[in-house]
Amino acid sequence: MGDDLWIEKKIVILGAGVSGHTAALYAKRFLRDKADITVVSPEKDYNWIPSNIWVGVNQMREEDVLFPLLPVYTKKEITFIRGRGIELFPEGTKESEKSFVVYESTNEKTKGEKHNLDYDYLINATGPKLNFEATKGLGPDYHIYSVCTAHHATQAGAKLNACIEEMKKGKHLTLVVGMGHGTCTCEGAAFEYVFNVDTELRRHKVRDKARLIFLSNEAALGDFGVDGIQLEMAGYITPSNILAESLFTEQKIVWILGAHVKNITETQIEYESLDATTSILDYDFAMLLPPFKGHLLKTSNKDGIDISDKIFNTNNFMKVDADYTPKTYQEWKSSDWPKYYQNPTYKNLFAVGIAFAPPHQISQPRKNSNGTVITPSPPRTGMPSAIMGRIVARNIADQILGNNNPPHSASMAELGAACIASIGAGFTKGSAVSITMDPIVPNFEKYPETGRDIKSIFGEVGRAGHWIKRLLHTLFIYKAKAKLLWWIIPE
Ligand SMILES: Cc1cc2nc3c(=O)[nH]c(=O)nc-3n(C[C@H](O)[C@H](O)[C@H](O)COP(=O)(O)OP(=O)(O)OC[C@H]3O[C@@H](n4cnc5c(N)ncnc54)[C@H](O)[C@@H]3O)c2cc1C
Repeated sequence: MGDDLWIEKKIVILGAGVSGHTAALYAKRFLRDKADITVVSPEKDYNWIPSNIWVGVNQMREEDVLFPLLPVYTKKEITFIRGRGIELFPEGTKESEKSFVVYESTNEKTKGEKHNLDYDYLINATGPKLNFEATKGLGPDYHIYSVCTAHHATQAGAKLNACIEEMKKGKHLTLVVGMGHGTCTCEGAAFEYVFNVDTELRRHKVRDKARLIFLSNEAALGDFGVDGIQLEMAGYITPSNILAESLFTEQKIVWILGAHVKNITETQIEYESLDATTSILDYDFAMLLPPFKGHLLKTSNKDGIDISDKIFNTNNFMKVDADYTPKTYQEWKSSDWPKYYQNPTYKNLFAVGIAFAPPHQISQPRKNSNGTVITPSPPRTGMPSAIMGRIVARNIADQILGNNNPPHSASMAELGAACIASIGAGFTKGSAVSITMDPIVPNFEKYPETGRDIKSIFGEVGRAGHWIKRLLHTLFIYKAKAKLLWWIIPE
């Protein structure tokens, strides 16, 4: 059998973010010339999103968190197409059974053109659709800043600077940071940003002129969408809300919890609370994260019948090997969470990172008496997203190479995670809250008391965490650029 027969296998990856880019680099490393790998993604640059926080407080520039993808893919002999996946035909059509995806070009010269791309394996790594539309007045097109993209973060940084200049002239301003809807996720990012804003205000000696408010859908500070964490600190088991409350109190940051933001004007934020009251908050600057949806890829069977609702959930996240049976909070099991990120209907279809449909929340679901859902959606942070990308690449490579290895798994109910939330930048002044948890999704069968392995949970506030976070910025960008020995750096 000639070697050239191998090349028939085509892997298409939609999305060149944390999970998709990781999957592409590992697929190439595992398979070399034994498969044809194509990445389709709309932007020309890779964005190391966690460092957008520092762009949003003017401690980094856009060029520090972005780099062009094409040179990396050219070096690695991965085809890169600037485009957006829009439709899926996993069974092909009546004429041909070959699976294909339709993408729309985002390249300047061919913008809007639609093309078909055949695949043997498809990885959906399209990340979040920033759903600013969910709340009236939310987002940079209206009155509210975001740090979800490097460009949004630059806009937030510029407005923050303008506010600082006004405060220097003696004005007192209200700055609000948090979540722009009752069902948002990524509370850790807002937590990190509010402390970085606090540091920036202190650096400019205007902290006394600012009323700094953290506005969140969490029922308790430090919930982070994972039902909080029980930490062992100085020999005592301490819930993360105690740690978070002491940090907020120390820095004089006011917190408002259990809030669903529902309407925003140029000067006011209207929100509904868990106790069903509605309140108005006047503001001068606000950075509120949007809720996330998935990117729907309209899916048809070979007869052209729309089967999107079988492949995607109502929020447009792709269904994988999870148990999606509706259950109550008390019935949730760690085994509900997917291990292989493989679609149950089409085994050559995978979804990783934020694109996969979680079986349920991690944080306890809550609604107020008006029926308004106010509860964090499950976070899928960088580390698990990248690990999912790697193991899916590994499993596809094993199938192509005919290896009979048991498939590699990466359930969030088995994976641990480290969260380092910087609370200010600078080599000698920076600090960070560092928290580890294992597993991310509590496993009460294994750890009946707290759902997590208390011995491996760690929480600390200090400069070392800041240095690690800064080092991770350099290491992860080095890895994403696929430089020498990049794979040695863990996800
Ligand atoms: C401000 C902020 C700070 C954060 N800080 C941290 C942190 O400190 N630590 C941490 O672990 N996590 C952090 N996160 C979370 C982390 O960024 C995400 O977990 C991670 O980016 C998810 O990876 P992903 O591949 O699913 O999505 P992304 O990294 O967003 O990648 C999705 C990719 O798909 C592309 N795409 C979109 N639509 C299509 C389409 N139709 N077809 C093809 N491609 C498409 C996008 O352009 C993008 O390139 C932070 C998130 C935010 C917003």
